[in-house]
Amino acid sequence: MSSESTSILRLRPAVRRVEAAAWKTLQRCREALRLTEIPLPIPVEEWIEFPLRYRFGVVRLADGVLGQAFIEDREIQISDRIGHEGRFRFTCAHELGHQVLHRRRAREFIDAGVMLSEPNRRVEWEADRFAAAFLMPIPLVIEQLFRLRDALGVRREEMTVLLQAGAHSLALWRDTFVPAVARRFGVSKEVTVYRFGEIEFADGTPLMPAEHRPEIIRRRAPRPQGGEPHANLFSEL
Ligand SMILES: [Zn+2]
Repeated sequence: MSSESTSILRLRPAVRRVEAAAWKTLQRCREALRLTEIPLPIPVEEWIEFPLRYRFGVVRLADGVLGQAFIEDREIQISDRIGHEGRFRFTCAHELGHQVLHRRRAREFIDAGVMLSEPNRRVEWEADRFAAAFLMPIPLVIEQLFRLRDALGVRREEMTVLLQAGAHSLALWRDTFVPAVARRFGVSKEVTVYRFGEIEFADGTPLMPAEHRPEIIRRRAPRPQGGEPHANLFSEL
């Protein structure tokens, strides 16, 4: 993580570990491919195979299963039924997260879009966070925000409006920044909003005001079978 980004942002220690692992994995790929910059959208499927050298397949999985990671075989399988490109990419990065972070936690991870058991929750949260950090690394997100500002002709004063609550800020995020950033990084609008919500400045102010979140993302109705329907991001996708 570049010092420029971390100096203005606050990351909790648990978050820092996951963000650092994702950033290190990205740098490993960039160096192996002798690239001067990380390309956007990040080619997650290609990089899983090379240079990271995992076996990768898009296959028919059991009903409801989105992706799975087999640690010993260094294998990642993704459901061929995920139609949405952003969701597909997030699932790839989530399984990569299990491979990178959780080699000693289990031999395999089967991820379904259903509630996960209690002990798994932290592991799943970490895989989600890794996926978001891998697909939307903080230094590149910040850089893109400023590039977008210039490309879209958003005035400098309006950038401070972004950090505040209110209709003007909401309109800028909803109509301009969220769709443009989602396209640039090849992720869903949900993942973009999640990412903007979790990046905080050193004083604890989130990059995107929390009250915008439900306004931008139309929540689906909670699942009928009790429990918390939104235990992690992965289960929402
Ligand atoms: Zn998982």
